[in-house]
Amino acid sequence: MIEVDAEGVVAFTQALVRIPSTNDPMRGRDERPAAELVEAKMREWGWRPEVSEAAPGRPNVVAVVEGGGGDGPTLMFEGHTDVVTEGDLSTWTVDPFGGEIRDGRLWGRGSADMKSGLAATLYATRALQLAGSFPGRIKVCALADEEGLMLGAHHFVSQGLTADVDGAIVAEPEAGEICAVAKGALRLRVDLTGKMAHGAMPQHGRNPIPAAGALLAGLGTLQDELQARHPAHEHLGEVYVTPTVLRAGSEEQVNVIPAVASVFVDVRTIPGVEHKVVAGRVAALAAQEGISSEVSILVDRPPVDVPTSDPVVAALAAAHRSVTGEEPVYGGVPGSTDGTVLTHWGGIPSVVYGPGGKWIAHQADEFVEVAEIVRCTRVFAEAARRFLNGDY
Ligand SMILES: [Zn+2]
Repeated sequence: MIEVDAEGVVAFTQALVRIPSTNDPMRGRDERPAAELVEAKMREWGWRPEVSEAAPGRPNVVAVVEGGGGDGPTLMFEGHTDVVTEGDLSTWTVDPFGGEIRDGRLWGRGSADMKSGLAATLYATRALQLAGSFPGRIKVCALADEEGLMLGAHHFVSQGLTADVDGAIVAEPEAGEICAVAKGALRLRVDLTGKMAHGAMPQHGRNPIPAAGALLAGLGTLQDELQARHPAHEHLGEVYVTPTVLRAGSEEQVNVIPAVASVFVDVRTIPGVEHKVVAGRVAALAAQEGISSEVSILVDRPPVDVPTSDPVVAALAAAHRSVTGEEPVYGGVPGSTDGTVLTHWGGIPSVVYGPGGKWIAHQADEFVEVAEIVRCTRVFAEAARRFLNGDY
């Protein structure tokens, strides 16, 4: 087994958690200080990180570590430096940015999602480098804004930095599961426009609210239809079509028929469901007599479906088996990750695997098991060795 710096990776995770790199630019907070710490660590090891801004003040940090062992593939390790906000402090029993270790757990915002995973990718690469030469290279990437619009991953792809990558491991918390599939997300805004009128004379207006009601009923039918046509995925479950926001009229003007009603829809898809088709169906449901409708696509992240036979998945599974002594468990990502962007827009296979529970992300009292950080660092080092040597 490749020897990793167990104390180092835990201490570095702690140092990252102590930086409140919340994705909250409105309040003047972002990932920059965490990205700077990553950059400093890379320089300390003699790497040459490139820093590139995905948006003003929102840096991506990328270092390429050459193996010096001749020609070979390029493996990408990916993590994000931003975290979601701590939320209501009264729901926390620990300091969200204390990085405290107690009962074998490291506590704090981002401990699982995903500062421990990010630290593990750095320390795994360092461990492999110190163990001797290897073929090919590793691209270690700490990207910005995963919790927002994924500006970091989109910027990374637009810079052409995926062109030479053969496979990517995304270190999100998946409780040790190997996740080569991820659900897709399609978020739509539907504006239904009628004609404003006095409530006493509705015959002079065109009320968009009943049209919104018909649309909502139609969305339920659409979900039933999609679920019937696309049976539940073994790791991702069902397709869902969920209205999440409904807006029309005003409490102060109960006697007025509003001109506009808006419905926002959050669609979660599985492989095989075409987002374009779903958006078209919603547009057809929105089109009703006397009402003009407009559907805007707010977010369009297709599902990810990388085969488990892909080298990056196979290398990771073999590494998991040899480091933990256990058979790998395959799972799915319920949301989307930077891996979605890397696979769909960058055209590279990605797999998600990292320390921390699947459900602890974004919650109060977030934590990661310290032993899991170290074990994951070992798995990453071994996965890189296997991937680059073609040993899987
Ligand atoms: Zn994350």
